[in-house]
Amino acid sequence: METFSIIPLKVGEFQGIERSNLTYQMNPGQKMVAPIIMYLIKGRDKLILVDTGPSDEAWAKQHHHGLIQTEDMKPEKALRNIGIDPSDIDFVVNTHLHWDHCFNNHLFKKSKIFVQKKEMQYAICPLPPHWVYYESYQLGLTPRWIPAMDSIVAVDGDRELIPGITLVTLPGHTPGMQGVLVDDTANGRTLIASDCCGLFENWRGAGIHRHIPSGIHIGLPEYYETFDKMDRLCDFVLPGHDPDVFLKKEY
Ligand SMILES: [Zn+2]
Repeated sequence: METFSIIPLKVGEFQGIERSNLTYQMNPGQKMVAPIIMYLIKGRDKLILVDTGPSDEAWAKQHHHGLIQTEDMKPEKALRNIGIDPSDIDFVVNTHLHWDHCFNNHLFKKSKIFVQKKEMQYAICPLPPHWVYYESYQLGLTPRWIPAMDSIVAVDGDRELIPGITLVTLPGHTPGMQGVLVDDTANGRTLIASDCCGLFENWRGAGIHRHIPSGIHIGLPEYYETFDKMDRLCDFVLPGHDPDVFLKKEY
C-alpha cells in the first residue's frame, strides 16, 4: 500500500486556448480546451492542497479569456464533492502566483500557504508581458494572493513539507515556480509539476525534443536546468492543464 495518493480536481476549463502557449512554439494556431487543476494529496493523516484555482467566469471574461466553471467546479464545491471542507486542509501550496493557481487562497486562511520567496518578489513587479498573469499592480489590480498574505510562509529553495513530501524549485515558467514531490505513490516518486509541464507532452517530449518548455517562460537556460533536475528527482509527472489527467480519478 502506497503512503500517498493524489486526487486531481477540475476547477475550471479554458476554452479554445492557444496550444503553443503550453508547448513552446509547437503547432501555432492549434486551439484546445484545457482544464484548470487543483491537486489534493492524502496520506500520513494529512491533507495538502496544491493550488487554489481560478476566478469565476465573469472575472475571467473581463480580465483574461473564456473560462467555464460549473457549480461543481467551484473550488469549495469541488472539495465538498469528495467529502472535504476547506477547513480540513492542513497545508496549501501555491506552485506559482499566476491568477489561475492562487485566486482562492482566501478560502484557506486557516492553513499555512507555502510560496517561494522568489515568486512573491517577482509577482510584485513582473515584466510587462507577465502583468496579466499575475493580475499585477501595474494593471491597477490587487494580486489575488495579497488578501491571504498573512497565511503565507515564504519558502527559500527546496524544503521538506512533511516526511515524504518536498517542495522543489522548478524555475523556468516563472522565477519562483515550485513543484511538489511526493514519495511513495502508485507511480513511484510523483512530481506535481503544475505549469512547468502544462501537458504530459511537455515532459514526454516530441521528436528530437526530450522535454518541451512552456510557451510562457522567464528564461530557457534555467528551464532546461529544471528539466535536468526533474530527470534526477522523479518517476512520474502530473501536469498543470492536461485533459488526460482526468482519465484517472486518483494517482
Ligand atoms: Zn502559470
